[in-house]
Amino acid sequence: MADIFEALEQLIQYGIANGLIHREDIVYTRNRLLAALQLEEWKPVEVKDVSFASPSPILEAILDWAYENGRIKTNTTTERDIWDAKLMNCLMPRPSEVIREFYAKYNKDPKLATDWFYSLSKASNYIHTARIAKNKQWKTKTEYGEIDITINLSKPEKDPKEIAKLKDAPASSYPKCVLCKENEGYEGTWHHPARSNHRVIPLTLLDEKWYFQYSPYVYYNEHCIVFHAEHVPMKMERKTFARLLDFIEKFPHYFIGSNADLPIVGGSILAHDHFQGGNYTFAMEKAEIEEYISFPSFPSLAAG
Ligand SMILES: [Zn+2]
Repeated sequence: MADIFEALEQLIQYGIANGLIHREDIVYTRNRLLAALQLEEWKPVEVKDVSFASPSPILEAILDWAYENGRIKTNTTTERDIWDAKLMNCLMPRPSEVIREFYAKYNKDPKLATDWFYSLSKASNYIHTARIAKNKQWKTKTEYGEIDITINLSKPEKDPKEIAKLKDAPASSYPKCVLCKENEGYEGTWHHPARSNHRVIPLTLLDEKWYFQYSPYVYYNEHCIVFHAEHVPMKMERKTFARLLDFIEKFPHYFIGSNADLPIVGGSILAHDHFQGGNYTFAMEKAEIEEYISFPSFPSLAAG
């Protein structure tokens, strides 16, 4: 029993060190964690040598305890992820607080806002930093210039026990997809990823309501997703470009792009209009232009 208190105390110390909670939140956070784990007692413990780099080792210890003590039933990745997010949510500010802090920083400098929100999304373990570290990533020289290669090894495979559960689980239609704004705080099911610790930032693009979030499995630095407030399908149109440019005006230190609205070369989620951006320079941006195209109406524009 002592071990679980030690692990919870470590998580609280981790939360303070990473700015998720403040000293005034300690008692409340501890009680929320105890409630989540169906514990009614607390024994003060001394902790030292807490690693503040990642919450994963502390969470793993808590989740192992939760399985050994009957809180987690199957010990599958899906169920452990649901608990991971639920526990981290005990340390998370509410959506309105996140939005307020984001825009307070944004009004000083958009980069301050995204730096803070990216750190928060990592500290909360919403971005699965420890899993992403398993990806193989390198740059290679080619006749076309240096190209980025990424082998994605971070998304966990479903084990047979999980696949069997998935077969029996009832189909659901809420949230409609993994991008919908209704994911914010959603506990997760066999079909739908855990999002208790997820937070999104509302944005206005061309007088329309959009939202900003990071990808839980970032492929590159500050890999963000900008998605429509409504569950509307991807559609490439003139307005798409206007929206992208509007985003760049608002976040000049980011790039943004859109997948095609086609199943073969497009994104994997065609049912919900979204863009992907971030703070990274891709090979294409560095490639030299071989053939120039000019636009008579926009003489200052270079493209090719
Ligand atoms: Zn959706």
